[in-house]
Amino acid sequence: MGKQLFRYSEANKEGFLDSDNITFNDGSIVTPEEIWHYLTVEGPVKYPSAFEVNLYQGNRGSRDETLPTSLKTRYLGLTFSARMEKAKDNGKSIAFIQGGQAVDPYTAADTIALRPGLVNQWNNGLEYGNDINKENLRRKKSKEKAFHDMSFEACQTGGYEHVQAGNLRIDVIAPYTVLRCSDVSYGVEAHRHGPNKDVKLLNVDFPLRNQADKPWAIEYFAGNLRRLVHTLDEVTGRKTTEDDLLKAIKLHNEGRRLGTELAELWWSADIPPTNSDDRASLVSLGNLETHGDVQASLSVLKEARKFIAERVKNGVKGHAVTDNPKRLFILGSCVGINGSRSEDAGAIVVGRDDQWSHCSSLVEEEGDPYYNLAKTTLEYPYEQGIEKRAQWTIEQIRKSRADGVIFIHNWGCNTQAAISRPIVDIIKRETGIPTYIHERDLHGLRDEQEQNRVNAFIEML
Ligand code: SF4
Repeated sequence: MGKQLFRYSEANKEGFLDSDNITFNDGSIVTPEEIWHYLTVEGPVKYPSAFEVNLYQGNRGSRDETLPTSLKTRYLGLTFSARMEKAKDNGKSIAFIQGGQAVDPYTAADTIALRPGLVNQWNNGLEYGNDINKENLRRKKSKEKAFHDMSFEACQTGGYEHVQAGNLRIDVIAPYTVLRCSDVSYGVEAHRHGPNKDVKLLNVDFPLRNQADKPWAIEYFAGNLRRLVHTLDEVTGRKTTEDDLLKAIKLHNEGRRLGTELAELWWSADIPPTNSDDRASLVSLGNLETHGDVQASLSVLKEARKFIAERVKNGVKGHAVTDNPKRLFILGSCVGINGSRSEDAGAIVVGRDDQWSHCSSLVEEEGDPYYNLAKTTLEYPYEQGIEKRAQWTIEQIRKSRADGVIFIHNWGCNTQAAISRPIVDIIKRETGIPTYIHERDLHGLRDEQEQNRVNAFIEML
């Protein structure tokens, strides 16, 4: 029997066609008319899994149809793989990064920076026509290969198997050795010994734990950022200047400011102006890296800021959000819960610590750009020791008026697994709100078991 696919309603087409174009890094544009065509004709044929009405991705099969920027983030997600292939055909350099850093130096060096989720998204999008079960089976198989070839102790979100199999044209693997991610050192070392030795490797060494007020640490990390840019230049053959980095910092600061404004606007509303998935996909645009194209992210973000302000002013409630939902704050790296099923259970996700930590950290624009970027990066709240990180998290929980906190850690995400208990203990001690810790496997159909536990927590709230 054919699977039931979600279809966008023609009733919303006219409103959508009135919205803005998306402008890309290379100056090209895509019009709302072209986006509508993709989402209603081309997309469902190429990626039926993304349109399938299935509990795995929520039982609505879509986000908010009347919010044009929701359709645009969906378009950018579905075209991601094809856009990366096109970028490579046009000679663009692509770096694999990992750890929660901002991508200013990569933008300065004219390099697309892709973190693990995006590397997997690129690979997943190379095959067309799969339903959800086939898609998951395919992902699970490739991850089993990675567990086997690299280590069962790593989370395997990094896409080691795709790079080593030569499926993806990644030029350089250049992550920061930040505290949050225990997979970085496994990953870079494993690539050094894998069959595909052509890929260039650099670990950007990051002084760990509360070093931000030590001048030597800032100077040392600034030097490592210079090495990073030099390595990226060896791939592209260009010479990145300090002025290029300053321009990139200014561009990313604009994204960070807009993303922060949007999140605070959302938090200020008594009635949630979007559902959980739309909130996450729009706020995450603030880092400008989410779709492998900083200008495309910026253009959708600007428009989203305008739409959310209108909704907040007019008291419009996000699609399928229940009245007075319980507000959840999600902690941990590379995690999230099923937004739509949690909404059906009477909740809404109001924030996350991961990614938000660097979105809300602006970089000074006067003075040495390397020093300024190093200083801000060392100050990321998510990269601090337990007490400091917990205090910052408590501030975000209070600002977002969360009723409950869920800390999720993936199998193999060793730092997050180890610190989840003390972090939530501090949160509970100081705020008194209920907390819950959950471990899971990052890959495959984990949905039902996880949702049972999340729903029980929501019921308890
Ligand atoms: S799940 Fe943890 S270890 Fe894996 S990539 Fe994310 S932060 Fe790193």
